[in-house]
Amino acid sequence: MMRLWVIVIIFTVFHQNYSRVLLPHVPDVLHPPVPDGVETDQNGLEGFENLDPEITPGLYQGDMAVTNEIYNYWRVGLKWETFPEKMWPNGTVPYVISPLYEPGDQATILKAIRILNMMTCIRLVPWNGKSKDYLLIWPIKYPKGCWSYVGRQGGAQIVSLQPPTTSSPNCLGTEGRALHEIMHALGIFHEQSRWDRDKFVKIHYENIIPRFKGNFEKLSLENTTYSFEYDYDSIMHYGKYYFSIGKGKPTITSTMPRVKKLGQRKALSINDCLKLNDLYKCFDNPRTRRKYYNICNFLGV
Ligand SMILES: [Zn+2]
Repeated sequence: MMRLWVIVIIFTVFHQNYSRVLLPHVPDVLHPPVPDGVETDQNGLEGFENLDPEITPGLYQGDMAVTNEIYNYWRVGLKWETFPEKMWPNGTVPYVISPLYEPGDQATILKAIRILNMMTCIRLVPWNGKSKDYLLIWPIKYPKGCWSYVGRQGGAQIVSLQPPTTSSPNCLGTEGRALHEIMHALGIFHEQSRWDRDKFVKIHYENIIPRFKGNFEKLSLENTTYSFEYDYDSIMHYGKYYFSIGKGKPTITSTMPRVKKLGQRKALSINDCLKLNDLYKCFDNPRTRRKYYNICNFLGV
């Protein structure tokens, strides 16, 4: 009898470990769908090794992989009501973190996940091996860098977070960039691509590396009528020198004299937090509304 229990225990432990390593195959080279006309030539990026890993992949606006279908709708307005399938049902988002990451880097990614679970009613949960749709957080080699799809794509969905090297923390110096990319996967765009952004920021096209000028396009009015103020502090806002031709040449500056700094990659701003909770209907229930509204105001930067 005792022996049987031992076998059962060994089997259970083995089975758990086995299912933990049951991972989908992820090729080193990925070709994320990108709209026609948006440059994605990896070879053309060789000279940009020292640039921000968020802007190196050469995807739409630097770090978003999008389909032609989505890109075309962006131009005429992508509404969540029109694309409910891009939302994660019930705010539940299964995830897999690649075992290729060092334990410290896994901890950084988990920290981002815990922050989102704490500050919103969205629930990022370890993939049970069965859910069809889930995030696959992976150190993709080509295109490397920090990048993500916007909203739920269906199936295994890559969130690429390039691990640190001796020369750069890349996407995992802190949890900030992981938060940024996961927020894309939850359906949030870059703040400075809002339709009304020209009232708040000035784009210095003369300072943008020419082939990246498209990254500073605006979304359509319908798509970006968030009921929140323009947020200079957003973790989804570009920094002043993104895609700049050189030092001291800002590509984007504030039109408000009091605002000196643009964007950050440290923590959710109050509005980032409110926006996510609003998008995932966390404010619909009076009890969770109060809870998450308070959390955003206390913990948002
Ligand atoms: Zn981004």
